[in-house]
Amino acid sequence: MDRFTKNYVDSFMADVIAKNPGEREFHQAVREVVESVAPYITSYPQLMDLKIMERIVEPERVILFRVPWMDDRGEIHINRGYRVQMNSALGPYKGGIRFHESVNLSIMKFLAFEQTFKNSLTTLPMGGAKGGSDFSPKGRSDNEVMRFCQSFMTELQRHIGADTDVPAGDIGVGGREIGFLFGQYKRLRDEFTGTLTGKGLAWGGSLLRPEATGYGLCYFTESMLKTRGESFAGKTVLISGAGNVAQYAAQKAMRLGAKVVTLSDSNGFIYDPDGLDEEKMQFVFTLKNIRRGRIKEYVSAYPNAVYYPDERPWTIPCDIALPCATQNEIEEQDARHLVDGGCFCVAEGANMPSTPEAIAIFHQNGLLYSPGKASNAGGVATSGLEMSQNSMRRKWTAEEVDAQLRRIMADIHAACVKYGTQEDGSVNYVKGANIAGFIKVADAMSDQGLV
Ligand code: NDP
Repeated sequence: MDRFTKNYVDSFMADVIAKNPGEREFHQAVREVVESVAPYITSYPQLMDLKIMERIVEPERVILFRVPWMDDRGEIHINRGYRVQMNSALGPYKGGIRFHESVNLSIMKFLAFEQTFKNSLTTLPMGGAKGGSDFSPKGRSDNEVMRFCQSFMTELQRHIGADTDVPAGDIGVGGREIGFLFGQYKRLRDEFTGTLTGKGLAWGGSLLRPEATGYGLCYFTESMLKTRGESFAGKTVLISGAGNVAQYAAQKAMRLGAKVVTLSDSNGFIYDPDGLDEEKMQFVFTLKNIRRGRIKEYVSAYPNAVYYPDERPWTIPCDIALPCATQNEIEEQDARHLVDGGCFCVAEGANMPSTPEAIAIFHQNGLLYSPGKASNAGGVATSGLEMSQNSMRRKWTAEEVDAQLRRIMADIHAACVKYGTQEDGSVNYVKGANIAGFIKVADAMSDQGLV
């Protein structure tokens, strides 16, 4: 990076930090993008004159609201709800809803910011948004979750709509929560539209939407591996998380011939030296999605596996790592463990799971490394396909959806290669994804005037 560009990045980040104090995750996400696109911006003076980057980091709208609800014992709880509508240059706002105790404005803004570029990469007409609450469904009864979702939607419904803003799931928001949210939206607005994605198959959902993020991650990883003449076959794979993304990433990696040896949750991880198989996956689906249990219960069913409480899986030797839990779950020391353990490919299923220090280690050691905004875009892409099916009042077969998902992931990979190929022939997927995602949003913003 030349001095002019470096000065641009430093002064830009100083402004962002001053204007958004304490928003650590948001600063981290913005810095990563600005460092990638700064050389592009500084070589196009009109982008600087139009202050495109200054506009992109300012949400178009932030909605913050009170969510009161009553638990089964009659106690009242007050949570905080958020919707960050970041950028609508490419289409209606689109992005998930997260229910987790850690949710705050910084996390919502970082996710909405990332979503803007991710949605651009999918080539589908979707703007970027994210929402959620500091409510955790863990340990809550179905009735408590329903009451919370109804209270949350009672306010959110004013701000969303099939052509305005279309939320989906994320951490803590799966099929059950989308059902309760959709029911309340329909009741209040008296309309049956595709305002939420991730819906049940009987009432407007798309085949393969639950699988899409994890499957898409594996399709993208296959393309990365192919650049080195490699494939999943015979590779040892570490996966973190045990939720929606982790489950289907594990299933697809296994079906592509890999040996998946770990899963985790926020309490610890399980290591199964024999690898997961179809029967073990069914156990995990039931454990997590029906019984809503903890991953440590896996070792009671499969005693060859070991449970490591309060640890992350990254110390286990592997070829490929697919972080699928949460942000900043691979720190510098974890990245060193991965490199020392033989890992040569890290593809992110979660959003921003690697810290900047960890990413630097991956790059220094020549690993294939892809950021979540590229490799986990299959989820939102299939949400986009769900929106299309809802608009047409049609339902595509699983084969049709899968073929489109594969094509979209291959196109995202090609875009990363186009903008991220270095002089030595290696691909910097961070740079490639950020520049490819940015160009479309910036062009659309230029076309649409100062709004
Ligand atoms: P789920 O709620 O289904 O699963 C999340 C998993 O991650 C759980 O196993 C959870 O464990 C674990 N986890 C959550 N927070 C932490 C934490 N602080 N430390 C350790 N483990 C944690 O969510 P998803 O699978 O949907 O989402 C996982 C990641 O993928 C997120 O980063 C999300 O933004 C991203 N993503 C999701 C998409 C989707 O379609 N669902 C699309 C694109 C990205 P526990 O039960 O203990 O909380």
